[in-house]
Amino acid sequence: MAQLGKKYYIGSIYQEKFLESLARGKIACVRCKGCQLAYFPPRQICPHCKTVNEELSWLELDGQGSVYSFTTINYPPIGFEDEAPYTLVIVELEEGPKVLCRATMPLEIEDKVKVTAHRDDDVFYLQCYKLSE
Ligand SMILES: [Zn+2]
Repeated sequence: MAQLGKKYYIGSIYQEKFLESLARGKIACVRCKGCQLAYFPPRQICPHCKTVNEELSWLELDGQGSVYSFTTINYPPIGFEDEAPYTLVIVELEEGPKVLCRATMPLEIEDKVKVTAHRDDDVFYLQCYKLSE
């Protein structure tokens, strides 16, 4: 079974739909039935209004957003030693959710970017690139 990154962080009961979207290059999140907030990662309890969404209302994100924050990792955690230095970015997507992804180019706060899903062997990861202005 495919994985997301090197560590799972999506509840196992939500993985199938989430990974199916990633396989098509899309990022899926959930829209709360109580307050209509779109949130990521998918889970039953809304982080805003605490509504328990028994059945998840899935939403596929366009991937366009802006850089909320970023950092370059020079001293990586175990398992990522061969990949440093690398840049982790929090992107605030136009639909509202924030996602963590990697960047392969220099970025600044508020740069307009597009986040896309990629697959390397059996591992999915998210990457962003700067949109031309
Ligand atoms: Zn809610």
